[in-house]
Amino acid sequence: MSQRCEGAKPPSLTTPSDPGRIEGMSERIIPLLDQRHQSLAMKIPTTPLPGEGLLRDQLHRPLRDLRISVTDRCNFRCNYCMPKEVFDSQYTYLPHGDLLSFEEITRVARVFVGLGVRKLRLTGGEPLLRKNLEVLIEQLAALRTPDGQPLDLTLTTNGSLLKRKAQDLRRAGLQRVTVSLDGIDDAVFRAMNDVDFPVSDVLEGIAAARDAGLGLDAHGRFSHLKINMVVKRTTNLDQILPMARHFHGSGMTLRFIEYMDVGTTNGWRMDDVLPSAEVIRLLQTEFPLVALEPSAPGETAQRWGYANALGRHDPALGEVGVISSVTQAFCHDCNRARLSTEGKLYLCLFAGQGHDLRDLLRNQATDEQLKAAIGQVWQQRDDRYSELRGRHTPGPAAPRRVEMSYIGG
Ligand code: SAM
Ligand code: SF4
Ligand code: SF4
Repeated sequence: MSQRCEGAKPPSLTTPSDPGRIEGMSERIIPLLDQRHQSLAMKIPTTPLPGEGLLRDQLHRPLRDLRISVTDRCNFRCNYCMPKEVFDSQYTYLPHGDLLSFEEITRVARVFVGLGVRKLRLTGGEPLLRKNLEVLIEQLAALRTPDGQPLDLTLTTNGSLLKRKAQDLRRAGLQRVTVSLDGIDDAVFRAMNDVDFPVSDVLEGIAAARDAGLGLDAHGRFSHLKINMVVKRTTNLDQILPMARHFHGSGMTLRFIEYMDVGTTNGWRMDDVLPSAEVIRLLQTEFPLVALEPSAPGETAQRWGYANALGRHDPALGEVGVISSVTQAFCHDCNRARLSTEGKLYLCLFAGQGHDLRDLLRNQATDEQLKAAIGQVWQQRDDRYSELRGRHTPGPAAPRRVEMSYIGG
């Protein structure tokens, strides 16, 4: 996606500033205020929706991308997402009966496709922990757009189970995966996942994904096999260059994500955010890079290609991307909706409440009624949290947000 930020002033790149800073917050884990039980009822409207392709929210953004969380559980405890002080043995996950079944998820996805969605991303928690996920993938892979095209179907995973599952996922119809990996040094990676998980197992998972053909592009390269690294200035800044060296020449796409203030438990502070501009500057000390055009409208990453001796992008060397959610917010073309594990519809990663779709689903709403209800919610959407980040009330009075492990990344 393009990264211009309308209305938001990026913080200085060299002197981090924090509009919402609380002294001492980086060391502190804020207790979870459970937002999962808050929800908004969905109504079936009587007014007709605009035709296919014309649905727009209040900021004229279409609905194109649906992220589906299939579990709120995870086997990692990345401290920026599920700090183990909060997500401990006492933490109550959603009971199985609350989760949407595969049939319910597929039905909702079909309705979303009728509203303009062209990309489905399975996420979580750790999606590969959901039993028989291949069955869901098979069902989703069979969906078609109104003009008969397959959807862009993908999944984000921490890679821990990928070695075992890559072939089955591909056979079920998954086209590509994004693997999260926050460092290539084993000690750093073990500290980031906070469950002492070795980096070698994730690397084997990535190799298995490649061997299964996940992420293969039309040119026989693996540019659609993406590796995501969340950068925390205090924790894994020294992993940026080693990660780039490791994936350079693989044809895979390595992306650096700015650490975000999602949820309320990770003790986020601006000083921990390394602006993407600094990431690019650092990479350029070793690799010549050329800026690339976005590959699709609403793309979250700004793309850079590794250049050859002539200064031109050499696709065989691969590319890197930066996702500047904090310093260059991209709300103005955000076309994403999120479906939580138990069927709540969220319109923004930073929302405090979801819309209760499961209630409609389980109370005999027809597909047309579901479509009208979702369409109405989308038409009323005006979220742009990241563009307004600096204006939000900091501290305990700040509006509560759901956790990322619950609605998915
Ligand atoms: N467990 C899977 C994984 O880690 O890939 C999928 C779910 S995870 C919530 C999805 C993505 O969100 C991951 O790439 C993760 O690194 C990213 N993420 C989680 N918390 C984040 C934060 N505070 N800031 C930026 N990215 C975050
Ligand atoms: Fe789990 Fe993914 Fe969150 Fe890490 S980022 S704790 S792997 S859900
Ligand atoms: Fe979209 Fe909300 Fe993120 Fe803005 S802050 S890009 S509206 S999810």
